[in-house]
Amino acid sequence: MTPLIDPFARPISYLRVSVTDRCDFRCTYCMAEHMQFLPKKDLLTLEELDRLCTTFIHLGVEKLRITGGEPLVRRDIMTFFKSISRHLETGALKELTLTTNGSQLARFAADLAALGMRRVNVSLDTLDPAKFQEITRWGRLPQVMDGIRAATAAGLRVKINTVALKGFNEDELFPLLDWCANEGHDLTFIEVMPMGEMGEEMRLDQYWPLKDLRIRLAERFTLTELAERTGGPARYVRIEETGQKIGFITPLTHNFCESCNRVRVTCTGELFMCLGQEDNADLRAPLRASSDDAPLETAIRAAIARKPKGHDFDYSRQKVKGQVSRHMSHTGG
Ligand code: SAM
Ligand code: SF4
Repeated sequence: MTPLIDPFARPISYLRVSVTDRCDFRCTYCMAEHMQFLPKKDLLTLEELDRLCTTFIHLGVEKLRITGGEPLVRRDIMTFFKSISRHLETGALKELTLTTNGSQLARFAADLAALGMRRVNVSLDTLDPAKFQEITRWGRLPQVMDGIRAATAAGLRVKINTVALKGFNEDELFPLLDWCANEGHDLTFIEVMPMGEMGEEMRLDQYWPLKDLRIRLAERFTLTELAERTGGPARYVRIEETGQKIGFITPLTHNFCESCNRVRVTCTGELFMCLGQEDNADLRAPLRASSDDAPLETAIRAAIARKPKGHDFDYSRQKVKGQVSRHMSHTGG
């Protein structure tokens, strides 16, 4: 089977799949408070998600990240995880992982670890319960903390993802760092991206460039740039004083596209070849048209053949450019 290679000679080995657009939180940078969710008939069923992921694995995808919306609020999601984990057993899939807000981890962490998951990313922007409620609108910090503890107890390695938000968690840079060091979690900061129809003014108000965050870190610690790349947008430094590894996802101040190895599928089966572009391919139609996987494979190959070189996000000159109208919860972060 010829592996998936895009027009810029980048092998596609990493698939991120959003299994739902729904969520039990309403983070202000991600969703409106009152969201119109998709009708159930538009969503891929768990069986269709399995077929889709399995086809990508046959085409050379080795790493699968499940996201959303909040993936763990999708009904019967463990049925999907149990089924897809068969590819871990055969070795075709090297890693099965998850990005979650942590709210349901207390229920599911042990089962996820038992089926071969090794790591999870948990999104957490503040350690202050009141601020947590403010930013997530509906979330409760103690529930997430219980989830993180359950994940650790189950043997899952936890990476904390924190969106850097000006005027919101600037003052928590060092407390977050210390907490992660004490708990043994990796930590990655994310720059806020222009997704969804949020007003331009609010976006720019929230934007705390990671180069500024990094300067603040360097005032207190010795930072060593690490060569390590995951083919994704993260760059890493080591804090020499603590040995901690810190990631930076900087789509706006740094261009990371040249080594991109990933594509994304939404919960309705749209394949996005680039997070920052509107072009997509409908995989639901070939999935539903035939029980034969050949048309699906053809559609995937045709889409990969038009994967663009990179995104066009740009906040320079105090304007939001390259904005895409869909919410992050739609494509899956
Ligand atoms: N609900 C899960 C969670 O929160 O981890 C998975 C989906 S969420 C869309 C994935 C990641 O996208 C989270 O880490 C979240 O903080 C991030 N995110 C959402 N909207 C964003 C935005 N506008 N800019 C940057 N990151 C964003
Ligand atoms: Fe839900 Fe995650 Fe978006 Fe927050 S960032 S609203 S938890 S999907």
